[in-house]
Amino acid sequence: MAEADNETTAKGEEPLLSVRHLRKSYGDHEVLKDVSFDVRRGQVLVLLGPSGSGKSTLIRCLNGLETIQGGEIRFKGEVVPNNSEKAWRRLRTEIGMVFQSYDLFPNLTVAKNIELGPTKVQKRPKAEVDEQMDRLLADVQLSEYKNAYPRELSGGQKQRIAIVRALAMNPELMLFDEVTASLDPEMVREVLELMLRLAKRHMTMIVVTHEMEFARRVADTVMFLENGVILERQSGSDFFTNPETDRARNFLDSMS
Ligand code: ADP
Ligand code: MG
Repeated sequence: MAEADNETTAKGEEPLLSVRHLRKSYGDHEVLKDVSFDVRRGQVLVLLGPSGSGKSTLIRCLNGLETIQGGEIRFKGEVVPNNSEKAWRRLRTEIGMVFQSYDLFPNLTVAKNIELGPTKVQKRPKAEVDEQMDRLLADVQLSEYKNAYPRELSGGQKQRIAIVRALAMNPELMLFDEVTASLDPEMVREVLELMLRLAKRHMTMIVVTHEMEFARRVADTVMFLENGVILERQSGSDFFTNPETDRARNFLDSMS
């Protein structure tokens, strides 16, 4: 897959993820209004927008954590039956998600946290999973914490383990929702660097972040959401140098 300019390469290739006319409401409050977009394999899509614009809700819809009121989500060309818990349970092994809050199991060691999904859900042999885990832990320089409990780790270390845990499932798509928002500033960098490495290795990712310098570096494409509507979608370089709308321009000004 070509590195740069994923907007124009790979024409004709089927998108990994395709969202059409997605609608999501809480009661009579419509939070996502007719949202449509594609994500190609290897693409890094950065989702920006003011607080309350619907970013987290959209990410959660893409992991089947929210029921939707309309529209269609396709993954690898196949329609995900709307609100089918069974379909999403299977897809969650292919779509990894990391949130703002560290969601490691506090009563399990780092190793057990990582092994759980691959061995219990994917039913892969433990020896193979352990070998992969060792490689992943070495990659994030946390090998010595294998037998530690989450409480013994810093916030940045916990988030890196949360990412490793998701990667151990060999996902085809990773969703990141403000994974550095709860971290002390000195720990933000180590997590962002890991995400940049994943992007370089062509992991397909949708990233919600408030770290604009990072967003600028990692984004193939930026989607700007406001009030549940996609106001802009363009290449990262175009978005950051010349946003199309005043809303996006104001947003960027407010973030700098
Ligand atoms: P963002 O992540 O962009 O800050 P959210 O997706 O969290 O935005 O929220 C979008 C809108 O949906 C907000 O108006 C928020 O108040 C509302 N919302 C989010 N979650 C719920 C919920 N569980 N119940 C009711 N309203 C919600
Ligand atoms: Mg949010």
